[in-house]
Amino acid sequence: MDFEEFRTRGKEMVDYVTDYLESIEQRPVYPLVEPGYLRQLIPDSAPQQPDSFEDLMKDVERVIMPGVTHWQSPHFHAYFPAAISFPALLADILSGAIGCIGFSWAASPACTELETVMLDWLGKMLDLPEEFLAGTSSGGGGVIQGTASESTLVALLAARNKMVTQIQAKSPDLEEVMIRSKLVAYTSEQSHSSVERAGLIAGVKMRKLPTDEKFSLRGEALKQALEKDKALGLIPFYLCATLGTTPSCAFDNIMELGPICNSENIWMHIDAAYAGSAFICPEFRPLLNGVEFSDSFNFNPHKWLLVNFDCSAMWVKKRSALIGAFKMDPLYLKHDHQDSGLITDYRHWQIPLGRRFRSLKMWFVLRLYGVKGLQEHIRKQVDLAHEFENLVRQDDQFEIINDVVLGLVCFRFKGSNDLNEKLIKRINEMRKIHIVPCQLRDKFVLRLAICARTVESKHVQYAWQNIKEIATDIQAGRQ
Ligand SMILES: *Cc1c(COP(=O)(O)O)cnc(C)c1O
Repeated sequence: MDFEEFRTRGKEMVDYVTDYLESIEQRPVYPLVEPGYLRQLIPDSAPQQPDSFEDLMKDVERVIMPGVTHWQSPHFHAYFPAAISFPALLADILSGAIGCIGFSWAASPACTELETVMLDWLGKMLDLPEEFLAGTSSGGGGVIQGTASESTLVALLAARNKMVTQIQAKSPDLEEVMIRSKLVAYTSEQSHSSVERAGLIAGVKMRKLPTDEKFSLRGEALKQALEKDKALGLIPFYLCATLGTTPSCAFDNIMELGPICNSENIWMHIDAAYAGSAFICPEFRPLLNGVEFSDSFNFNPHKWLLVNFDCSAMWVKKRSALIGAFKMDPLYLKHDHQDSGLITDYRHWQIPLGRRFRSLKMWFVLRLYGVKGLQEHIRKQVDLAHEFENLVRQDDQFEIINDVVLGLVCFRFKGSNDLNEKLIKRINEMRKIHIVPCQLRDKFVLRLAICARTVESKHVQYAWQNIKEIATDIQAGRQ
């Protein structure tokens, strides 16, 4: 493909993408394929001679689309949203064309510098304490990680390194493996599976603490666990609190947890993967109160802030704590400015070496929507969640299970878990809408999230109609 052909095909691709998104509602939101469906549709090995672009695009419809779950359909209400927007799509084309691997400042200065400033912009939008911003003298700063899971792990590794270093400073004879075997980290039983996994990867104990009746981790539960573990001779070093849990969008009480962590020398990381985007609205910002006690904070603009995957924003109060945990400086990565203290080499902040120019899409989105435009997006989606909540509440046969604070409604048909399992199975088999369940204590619960940017009231009404009809059918079948 030469320049001229790219120019033509590029425009065709933009047309294809626009048509796809414009007519996405007409496609069943969930695919009807069996595992292994795709292998039968394409050759066993790569072609020796080049194929034509036309043939390839025909195969996009023949091979790919039948197996796509349409996350951007307004009938998709599963998991949490996966953000996309036109500004971010356009920026990703540019990022792909620049094609830099921005592991150090010198590897592409704009890639590093825009990221640092964008994380400051975003931090200010959230009203984060100044200590988290790079453009101050506080020693903090932000970085774009690929995912919230990586942020949790990176924070845990930094915390582990910090604790080992502190202990060895007092007792130089203690070996690192000895210290590590005594470390213990905490999270709630409602937190994302990636938190437990971070403990497995780092090889440290991760305790899952009980939550209160609102699925929130409270200070008292942490205190009790700390006393027990300290009595066993263990060393508490890390807490991952969640703002907006995945099952029910519950909020851990960081105003209680934070001061305990600070006085016990425990690193507090906050995972606000989904809910974080909402904190750009002043009315939701109180949910973030207590962030001042944390050592690191993370949320995913790629979930709810219209920046395409992957873009997970992470801030630390002390960048030295991160960099100290991962620093490697082989000769081929050294450059003239690295010891000037003025620049950031993001490779020290993350697990991989390579990194894409992801801040471009954030820059495009922040500039072309403006803070106001993004606030409107969040507010509209929260309103839609309340609209759905009200529909459910008006029906005696159903109950709401969570506090609907943002864009997630947890609800169930009053009755057995079996009945609810049957209900969701039928809903997804119909493929008109797509939702996933969760388990809250002993209850099997249905979860409806407002996902696509294009969801309107009519889609919420449609979803409810669908759910109600199927519930009615199931009930009739029972009688
Ligand atoms: C979605 C989610 C995650 C996982 O996000 P990734 O960016 O895919 O790792 C982690 N924590 C919470 C609370 C989430 O909702």
